[in-house]
This record gives sequence, structure tokens and C-alpha cells, in this order.
Amino acid sequence: MPSFFDQTTPAEASQYNGFAGNRLDRLSEARDESSLAAATADPRARYLLFAEERALIAVNGEAGIAAFERPAAERLGLLADSLVLLGAAAEGPCLAGLVDEQRDLPDTVKAIDLRSLASQGLLNADDLGAIAQARSMLAWHANHQFCARCGKPTLMRGGGVRRDCPACSAQHFPRVDPVAIMLTIEGERCVMGRQAHFAPGMYSALAGFIEPGETIEDAVRRETLEEAGIEIGRVRYHSSQPWPFVSSLMIGCHCEALTSDISPDESELEDCRWFDRAEVRAMIAGSHPGGLVVPPRMAIANRLICAFADWDG
Ligand SMILES: [Zn+2]
Repeated sequence: MPSFFDQTTPAEASQYNGFAGNRLDRLSEARDESSLAAATADPRARYLLFAEERALIAVNGEAGIAAFERPAAERLGLLADSLVLLGAAAEGPCLAGLVDEQRDLPDTVKAIDLRSLASQGLLNADDLGAIAQARSMLAWHANHQFCARCGKPTLMRGGGVRRDCPACSAQHFPRVDPVAIMLTIEGERCVMGRQAHFAPGMYSALAGFIEPGETIEDAVRRETLEEAGIEIGRVRYHSSQPWPFVSSLMIGCHCEALTSDISPDESELEDCRWFDRAEVRAMIAGSHPGGLVVPPRMAIANRLICAFADWDG
């Protein structure tokens, strides 16, 4: 009988994950200290705007537009000091900026949190991906105003690709925090858990931050043992997902259980148990008799769970 782990890796499964469609040219090697001024002087420049952690979207029926021209951005209360150059689209430069959140928005513009934005399908994949980059970059700059080495104020460089410390010459680069997210499988069943803050009835794949000095596979084995008490053998990469809450990279894997008994980490999980494939399929279809569900389609957990449920080996 074939094993789930005998499959070949699907081509670029990451492209189907929410926030994965960013096509901006980041211009990482082409920037200098005039790049930001040149971008803001370009009449083609477009601005992705945030009121704190929510993106401003011009909503017109079922469609939303994330990119504003400069005059519109200023009417919405653009804080010019916050601007970061994200990169170049075919139409011209793309920047991210904060607006004054005290200012009232016109009826046609909504401030929308990024989970809702990804679930509602208001934006195309390219713009949703750029919004994720924008949110992570704005948050990084806001939280790294001071040097982590000597504590003195830092300065943005290269339009936002770096912050330098004039006092001690340290260079600071935007960070990405890798998170392993894994669906544990044993034959025809898988392990899912729920945290107390999840939506009612929702179960998901287990997840945890990868620690310094650790491989992805070892993080999957450690986290599964810590959270569920299950020992893991083979680990198989599935896909990755930029996760802008605030700057994670979700690294999705399937992993093979070597033991069956579950002892949940009660400090993290409200419940954790085995689900057979028929039950998982009902949860995906929204027809589970107990009303249990899996995370929404935009989440990598959904893709990991569907890959197991759809597997016809
Ligand atoms: Zn310093």
C-alpha cells in the first residue's frame, strides 16, 4: 500500500496560499539614498496605506483597490515620515505608509484587518501579497527606531531595506520569523488541535516558532512532541506562506507519527485529537455533524489539511 510520504513534491504549492502573490521587484541591489525621494517624485507612484495594523481599501462593490495615488493618500492623512519604498510594479514605484488614524475615512474607503482582507477576496493575489510585505515592513521600521546594540536612534537607509546606527555603525535588516506548521499523519488519520481563542468548532494543524540552531524538520519533531506528545519520523515539506502578523514565514509540512497516544500541552491547546479522513472531509465541506470546521482557505493550515483529505493513494 502506498504511503502518503511516497508522493513527489507538488510544483510550487506555495502559490495557492494567501499572501503569496507578491510580484513587486524589490530593487534590493539597485537602491541608494536617493531611491525614496525619486519614488515619491514619480507621478506614477502608488501608495499602500495603513491605519495602524489595518489596510485602507477603496471598496467598490465586490472589488477593492489597495493602491492610492499621492493626492488621495494625502487626503486620507498620509504621514510622510512613515513612507517605505517596497519596490517597483509594472506601473511604477510602490510605497507603504501610515495614515493618521484619528482622521475620518470617506464612505468609499474601509480600514480592513489583513485576515479579513485575505478571506474576503476583495483584492487580487498580487496586491494581497504586496499588502503583506507593506504591513511587515511598516511594523519593522516602527519597532526598530533604536539600535539593538547600543540603544541610539537608527536611520532608515535605501528607502527602507535597512536601518543604520550612526553611533556604532551597526546595520539592521528587516527580520522574518520562521514558524513550522505541521499536520501529523498516521495512515488514514491526522492530528489537529484547537487553541482557546480559535473560532468556535475550528481545529487546525499544530505550529510553533523554529528556534536558533534548529532545522525545519527538527522543529516539526520537537513541536509535535511538546504540543501533542507524539514522536515523529519522516517530515515532508509542502509549501510556505508569508504571514504578516507581524512578520512570520509559515513553513508547512506533513509529518509521520511513530506513536499514537496524545498528551496535549494544556497551556497551549484546549483540545487535540486524531481525526479520520472522512471526518476531515466533512469539516472541509462544512457538513460535519458536530459543526467542526478547519481554517479558511487562505490559510496554509487549510492547504495542508486539504492535501491530506484529497490524497487518493
Ligand atoms: Zn548602535
